[in-house]
Amino acid sequence: MHYVSTRGRAPVLAFDEVVLTGLARDGGLYVPEMWPRFMPDIQAALVNLTYPELAIRVMAPFLGSAMTEDELAGIVAVSYQNFTHPAVAPLKQLGPHSWLCELFHGPTLAFKDYALQFLGPLFDHILRRRGERVVIVGATSGDTGSAAIEAFRDHAAVDVFILHPHERVSPIQRRQMTTVQAANVHNIAVTGTFDDCQRLVKDLFNDHPFREAMNLSAVNSINWARIMAQVVYYFWAALAVGGGRRAVAFAVPTGNFGNAFAGYVARAMGVQVGRLMIGSNRNDILTRFFATGTMTMQMVVPTLSPSMDIQVSSNFERLLFELYDQEGDAVERLMEQFRETGTFSITHDRLYDIRKIFRGFSLDDNETRDIIADVYARTGEHVDPHTAIGIAAGRAIGPDIGMPVITLATAHPAKFPQAIREATGREPVLPERLAAVLACKERFTVLPVDLAAVKEHIRLRARR
Ligand SMILES: *Cc1c(COP(=O)(O)O)cnc(C)c1O
Repeated sequence: MHYVSTRGRAPVLAFDEVVLTGLARDGGLYVPEMWPRFMPDIQAALVNLTYPELAIRVMAPFLGSAMTEDELAGIVAVSYQNFTHPAVAPLKQLGPHSWLCELFHGPTLAFKDYALQFLGPLFDHILRRRGERVVIVGATSGDTGSAAIEAFRDHAAVDVFILHPHERVSPIQRRQMTTVQAANVHNIAVTGTFDDCQRLVKDLFNDHPFREAMNLSAVNSINWARIMAQVVYYFWAALAVGGGRRAVAFAVPTGNFGNAFAGYVARAMGVQVGRLMIGSNRNDILTRFFATGTMTMQMVVPTLSPSMDIQVSSNFERLLFELYDQEGDAVERLMEQFRETGTFSITHDRLYDIRKIFRGFSLDDNETRDIIADVYARTGEHVDPHTAIGIAAGRAIGPDIGMPVITLATAHPAKFPQAIREATGREPVLPERLAAVLACKERFTVLPVDLAAVKEHIRLRARR
């Protein structure tokens, strides 16, 4: 299996190289040259596997000759051991045709653990074999930073630097990052906004001598291995609810479109996904796109679901590549237009095709609170604001579609206690893990929005 860039002009790479590379050199994202297919009888034979067993089966076809299935099995064996639920991703039935797939039983209580806990040992394996080390740099406004820190803490060949906007992330999310006592973990609180953090990270990567000297690496959701690891739970949930023989619909709260794109990949691999319903908050660029075929950027507004306060969904480019029959030139043209004018459109034919799979639904904060309250009243379950948006999107499909609807629950409600209290009058139960985080001592460095200062900080602390 080889990997090509969505813009068609970067070198073709093998799996291990794609994992370490992140963004392609032509500005595109790497995708596999073809989708492996699982026929229905093969899927039916996967029904009784455990989550780790299934993960090996689903991910093995993507490795090519870069890694053996045994090596993958060794990595998977340690990937899910820090999850607190024996099923890893349990399914809970909410109504006659509606299900939740709970993706918050990992160390940081958000779904990003399901990919990043796998990326930790995967990086270890690849770096050991190549005799390399890397410095991972990332910016976070919420869940990505803590999931990356948990995944790479104490790894011998990796140093992690995570930038967050000083005093602009929620106390729980900050503490999940800053209370980790590991010598290779470095939290930088930048006295600016999340956009400033993101720009600093981009500038670090664009400084090629620095990038090469430090061997910088990225683990944001443009990293193919994250998407690949997320495909597993679509198989898992579809098999659990539909047995591999019955179509199911998924409802997915969406920001950067990584999670939703993994659903598209599962469908391309043969999972009977009848509909992918995209949920967004007031930052509804994707919902507008799936309604009209036009992508138009607007200002980001803060909401109750901060992990989805995004306007440009970086992973959308991978879908565009599919939609344009894997023509890099066409993708390049559209992305260039988007960068210059803030808007682009696809043709009616293509919109018609994409609407056979995707629809969008968006709601504001009041509607989100109403859903949290309604789910609590009907089922006694607390759902976090992101998950609530997913549930609302799932309800918008309606019962007449004639298939079960599975909503991906992307965060534990205890991460958003205030929203839950406002909606239901009660606090969600604090899991042990989070209670420990709230008690520990914090460690972070405050730096100005200054590239030279950040570079110097990294240079002095990265182990060589
Ligand atoms: C990151 C995140 C999302 C959005 O996922 P994307 O893959 O970026 O679309 C949704 N909910 C939660 C809780 C998240 O942390």
